[in-house]
Parts: sequence; C-alpha cells; structure tokens
Amino acid sequence: MRKEKMAAERLMKKYNTNCPFQIAREMGVNIQFERLKDTLGYFSTYKRIKTIHINQELTELDQQFTCAHELAHSILHPAVNTPFLQRSTLFSVSKIEREANTFAVELLLPDYLLCEHQDISLSQLALIRGVPRQLMYLKNR
Ligand SMILES: [Zn+2]
Repeated sequence: MRKEKMAAERLMKKYNTNCPFQIAREMGVNIQFERLKDTLGYFSTYKRIKTIHINQELTELDQQFTCAHELAHSILHPAVNTPFLQRSTLFSVSKIEREANTFAVELLLPDYLLCEHQDISLSQLALIRGVPRQLMYLKNR
C-alpha cells in the first residue's frame, strides 16, 4: 500500500472521520478562510503553528478538497515550502503535489465508501465527493 493511502487510513481510524476539516482541527492545525484570488489554498508553518489557508470564495466541495490536499502537506511535507494550490497546478506532476493529491483522493474516496456505494460509478462518487475527475486515477483499489 502506498504511504499516502496508509496515512489517510491511519487518520480515518484514529479520528473516526474522513472529514479533512475535522481531522485538521483534531491535529491542532488551524484553518483560515481568506481572499486568495486565483489560489485555491496553501499550507504554512510559522513558529511551529501550522495553518491551512483556504480561498473563502470556493464552493464547499472545492474547499473540502483543498483542505484535504493541504492537510496532506501538513502531514507528509511539514518542513517543505509547498507551492500555492491553483487550479492550473492541480494536475501538477511534481512529487509532493502528486502525493498530496493522492492523500486527498484516498481520504475523500476511502475504500469503505466505495464498498458502500457499489451501485454507482467511481466517477459519480468522485463528483459527489468533490474530487476532480482528472485525479481519480490516483485512487488505489
Ligand atoms: Zn500542494
């Protein structure tokens, strides 16, 4: 199993939820909604205080995906100066961006959810869960 999936499953088990906002809160990571123009969100650490910044103008589903992506950085890349998440870079091939997207996909489309909804396709489920269709290939089944 990939490390991103393991990290996501470990957190879902520990906090008994797959909501990235709730997991962030439980982990003491701040969430701030801000005006960010074209940026979906970013992650910052200042004096050991971790903060996920989210564009306040996004839809709820886009905010959820952004939170999951940035939560991944806070867990997998806490010491890395990660780039701002933008729509155009959502499909970035850089290693840390792909890892963050993989974590987000595994968190928002966990195996148990797929099991519960075998009657609908993965792409329909992705739509409902706010996972960009172009990232579905990251789901490990
Ligand atoms: Zn990122």
